Amino acid sequence: MTTAYGRTGDPGPAVRPPAARPPAAAPAAMAAAAAQASRRPGSPSAKPSRVLLVEDEPGLLRALLINLRARRYDVTTATTGHAALAAAASRPPDAVILDLGLPDIDGTEVIVELRRWSRAPIIVLSGRASPGDKIGALDVGADDYVTKPFSMAELLARLRAVLRRDDPGPAEVTEAVVGHCVIDLTSHTVTRRPGIGTGKGTGPGAEAGAGTEAGTQGTAQAGAGPEDGETVRLTPTEWRILETLVHHPGQLVGSRQLLAEIWGPGYEPRTNYLRFHMARLRRKLEDDPARPRHLLTEPGMGYRYRP
Ligand code: CA
Repeated sequence: MTTAYGRTGDPGPAVRPPAARPPAAAPAAMAAAAAQASRRPGSPSAKPSRVLLVEDEPGLLRALLINLRARRYDVTTATTGHAALAAAASRPPDAVILDLGLPDIDGTEVIVELRRWSRAPIIVLSGRASPGDKIGALDVGADDYVTKPFSMAELLARLRAVLRRDDPGPAEVTEAVVGHCVIDLTSHTVTRRPGIGTGKGTGPGAEAGAGTEAGTQGTAQAGAGPEDGETVRLTPTEWRILETLVHHPGQLVGSRQLLAEIWGPGYEPRTNYLRFHMARLRRKLEDDPARPRHLLTEPGMGYRYRP
């Protein structure tokens, strides 16, 4: 259970999820989250990542600031779009957390301006939840999108993810795990192994419809799911989607980006292709394809591999 941050005093209909904590629990949750802080991010000796935090709501700005500083981020704050651009120019950030609804210029304009010269990852934080808003922000250069109210733990995880992406890192990803399946990116094999992952289940009709993709894998997954230790066959398209996602662990990969990379320019609107192939990947890899734990859909935005 997490505390939801960023709920405004909107007079609209109450939409607080039933599981949300009462406000009194917030300081305890914040303290608990802060207590884990010293382990992250990255190695303690590394130079702290510089985060530009742009938010005009004082309470939320403060909560974010406390949590980010507790995790040893070097935080600069701004409460307007113009101040954000000035702060970014004078102290180029490693990452930006950006509210879209700012008192002067729209956050989307801030993204456009920043993208003229900065490649720093931008996580949009916004109360606007429509797919159009998300797609608009992602299309002009945002890297991820968190809808208010949000969980602090999730926002921090996404921040770590976008910062990892920019870090060249010591090693290339060579292996990933989805449920009981080990994906070897070097040998291009997927093996279902006992003793890893959690839970187990082949699911009724798990492989229905498999092996039909242009006959590229004649033996792909007929009948019941594979036994432990067996090779799981993926079609070339499934491989390309899977590789793209696992190379960005924890990060949102936009549908348009996936479509353009895998099918080529002009295919960006064909999100049904992705839905089809992602469903098949889940049937082959996830322990419970109906409740995927690793190959996640972010509605209206794209997909995410959660290690
Ligand atoms: Ca705002």
